[in-house]
This record gives sequence, structure tokens and C-alpha cells, in this order.
Amino acid sequence: MKHLLYIATILIVLALSSCFKGESVDIIIHNARVHTLTELEEVMDAIALRDGKIIEVGPERQILNKYSAKEYIDAGLKDIYPGFTDAHAHLMSYARLKLSVDLVGCKSYEEMINRIKDYQKGHDHEFIIGRGWDQSIWAEGEMPSNDLLNEIFPDLPVCLFRIDGHALLANDLLIDSSQVYSKFVETDNLSTGGYFIKDKNGANTGVFVDNAMNPILEILPDFPKKDIQKSLLEIQDELVAMGVTGIHEAGLTNFEVELLEELIDSNKFHLNVYGMLLPSSENYAFAKEKGHYRNKNLYIRSFKVYGDGALGSRGAFLKAPYHDLDDHHGYLVTNQDSMVQISEFCKEVGYQMNTHAIGDSANRVVLDIYKETFLENPDHRWRIEHAQVVDPKDMHFFALNGVFPSVQPTHATSDMRWAEDRVGEARMEGAYAYKTLLETFGMIALGTDFPVENTDPYGTIFSAVVRKNSSNQPEEGFRIEEAIGFKECLKGMTIWAAIASFQERELGTLEKGKDATLFIVEKPYNLKSFQKNFSYITFIKGKKVYSLE
Ligand SMILES: [Zn+2]
Repeated sequence: MKHLLYIATILIVLALSSCFKGESVDIIIHNARVHTLTELEEVMDAIALRDGKIIEVGPERQILNKYSAKEYIDAGLKDIYPGFTDAHAHLMSYARLKLSVDLVGCKSYEEMINRIKDYQKGHDHEFIIGRGWDQSIWAEGEMPSNDLLNEIFPDLPVCLFRIDGHALLANDLLIDSSQVYSKFVETDNLSTGGYFIKDKNGANTGVFVDNAMNPILEILPDFPKKDIQKSLLEIQDELVAMGVTGIHEAGLTNFEVELLEELIDSNKFHLNVYGMLLPSSENYAFAKEKGHYRNKNLYIRSFKVYGDGALGSRGAFLKAPYHDLDDHHGYLVTNQDSMVQISEFCKEVGYQMNTHAIGDSANRVVLDIYKETFLENPDHRWRIEHAQVVDPKDMHFFALNGVFPSVQPTHATSDMRWAEDRVGEARMEGAYAYKTLLETFGMIALGTDFPVENTDPYGTIFSAVVRKNSSNQPEEGFRIEEAIGFKECLKGMTIWAAIASFQERELGTLEKGKDATLFIVEKPYNLKSFQKNFSYITFIKGKKVYSLE
């Protein structure tokens, strides 16, 4: 009898322990509102993570009973979302911006000069590079000339980039050594894809737009590699603190791929980077040799092509002339034949093509080029970046040719001050038309284009959903009829961004088997007024990359 009792006790203890212990996982986050963002739109209480993957999402009791974890996190009923992806941004430009004179927000030319002088006190570079001026916020609103720069900096090369990166102001010392006036030949129809900005008397101002910048860019020195890498780590910190865990980097040189890989191999850089290569002989060789390339969190299988310029500097390619500049249509930065050639190469190596197109004419050119690809592969996912001004008559080609729109909602609420000056009232119907693009194609990828705009994903949400800027302007929303819903906005920053980068199997929703890439946040948006917001804890592949405490 004693013997039997002993066996029974052991059995009960075993049964209880297996019941309490459950399957072991690394982390359980519970008492949460886990927004799965799946088709079912489920909101669950708890999530179990192991080895960088999601093991299960489910009701509180189910997850707590079924699993035992090394770490439990009580989320205090806060929201959990898949990590946000910025589907169009420039990590490398932002890293260099951090090393340059920061001219963002300068209210005048004089303020710009003062910031350069302040910068000089802490650096002894043999050149000055500044980034971020925007004449549209200066009192006079006119493009600058380099007279003052020449006077103050006669012996030091100075290059100051406009906020959109499509124009630069240089001093004469730099201009002379670049030989830009003999190397870049302006033609009447601007088929060269760039121009020199002239003053009222027809004299050169020292401002160069798009391809006219090239001879200067060729001789511009770069910052030391280790400094750029240090800046990238700072950017990573800034992003994960807001719940951004991935970036679609819109244009990498071969050197920048190497620089990024060094950082990734040192296990310091965890952001998921979908890198778009810039067309160059080295990058073509890379694509041919490596095909779809993955190294840990870096994934490369696409090219970024500049179709036209920007609207602010009148480089966007329009069907009819600019409303505020007679006979000027803008231009293609990469001519049509070259774009066709790049598209052929992309098809050959199985790469995606992502083309910057701002003006209605540029959009139409690219939509037509992509048609061929659609006929061969309806699921090609080739993208138009920006799709900023689209002729309403061409809108249906996004659906017809399977073209993925990739847009940046904060551009709408930044450009609203002058966009109508450039294109006139009639063309505004197809401008910043995110809702129409979404309804046409069925999906939309959302980004910020930082450092052109700031990195804040909550700014993207506010601009997309209520069409207001961070100062809550305009009161009724800018072209509010083109607002998209909050749910759609979230998808544009998660699952649709994942689909736009062929990563939907790993990213974009919170489901079993996907990467444990997510963040805990409280009320990710407030419709009434803009609020900065931050993550409590951010995970990338199960690794805690940010914690508020
Ligand atoms: Zn961009």
C-alpha cells in the first residue's frame, strides 16, 4: 500500500510540474493589447518569443499556461505593434548630415553663415559641407547667391546642400576647382537633367540643381568611414526609441554597402535594412555576382533610380509647364533610354526597380516602362518612389501595370506651402493623392524620406490620417479628401512595407513563425493634436534594442 501511494505521489508531482512548467520560451509579454495586423485584425493579450521568432500570440491564460519563460513582461495594457518600417529613407545622407553643418530650419542666409562659423570652432576640416537649407522658409523666399559665401570663405571650399538634396550652393573656390561650367553643358530643352540657377540679370548664382551638381560632387571629399559608422549607430538609437525597426534605404553606393556590412558584422547594427543599390558598374557587378543578397539584417535585391528632380527646385518633370516658371517643364535626371536599359538589367538579374518620380510626366514615363515587366511577372512589385504629382488620367496604370506606390505623407504637409505655386490648382487633384493611390493599387508603402523630413513615424501617421503638420496646420487638413485611415496607415508602415520589400514571410504582422520584431507603445496617435511619442521597449528579432527604463 505504502509503495502504491509513493508511485501515485510521484505521478501527481510529474503531472503538475509539466502542467506548470510548459514549453520553455525566452520572453512572454502579457497583459497587453497585441495588434497582430493580420487579415483577421485580431487584438490579443499575450505573445511568446523564442530564438528571435514569435512562437505564439493568444489570450492571456493560454499563453501563460502553455509556456514558461526566462523573462516575463507585464505590458500594463499598452499596445504592441510590429516594428515600424520606414519604407523610404536615406540612412547614409542622414549620417553625413550629422557630420556636416546642420542648416535645417535656418530662417535666413545670415543664420546659415552663423551656423557655419559655430561649426568651424569645433572642427578643423579643410572643407565645409552643410545640409538642409530651404529658401522657402526665408523671409525673401528667393534662391540664394554665393556672393556672401565668397566674401566670408575665400580660401575654404564650401558646399551647402538644399533640404531635398537636389540642389547645392557652392562658393567660387569650389566651383572653380570643379570646372563645373565647362564640364556640365546646359542645353535649351534641359535634356541634361539639371541646370544652373541664374539671377535676374542672367548671371550664375552658384546654385546647381540635379545633374549640374555632378562635377562638384565628384571632387567633394567624404567624411572618414568610422565617423559615418558612428553616426549610423546614433541614428539607430534615435529610430528604435520610436519603434522603428527597419528602413528601406533609397540608394546605396558600393562603398556604402561595404561600410554598412562592416557595422553589421561587428554585431552593433540591428535595424533591418532593405538596401536599394544605385546604378553603377560596381553595383551591377554586385547584382550579377550575388543575386538576391542577404547578410543578417541587410537584404539587397533592388535598384533605386532617379527618374526626375524635385518639385521645390523645379526639377520634377511635368507634362505642362510649371505654373510659376514659363516654358519650364523640369526634366528627367535619368533619360528614358537609360531607364529602359536599367529595367532590362533588373529583369535579367531578378532585381526590383524602384524609381523616384515626382512630376506627372515622370510618373507616366515610369508607369509605361514597368508595363513590360508586368506582362512577364504580374507580381513584380516594382515601385514608384514619391508618386507625388500624378495625372488623374494615369492613376489607373498603378493597378493595370502592378506598380507599387511608395509615398511619404510628411512631404504633403511640408510642401503644401508652395506646391500649388509650382503646379497650379488644376494639377493639385492628382498631387499627394495617397488615398487615390491606395484605392487604385490596394496597398501603399509609407516612409519619411529622412533627412529631407525628420525621422518621426508619428509625424507620418499624423500627416497621413489627418493631413496636418506637427504644428497642427492647416486646421481642416491639407486636401483632407486624400487622407487614409489609421489602420491603412499602420499597414503602410508594417505589412505593406514588408510586401514592398519581399519580406512578408518574416516581417509586418505579429504571427507565429515571424521575426520577434515589435515594440510596446501607448496610444500611437492622437487625432486632436500632434504629440511626439516613444516606445517603451523595442525588440528586433527577439533582442531588446531599446528600453525606456
Ligand atoms: Zn528619397
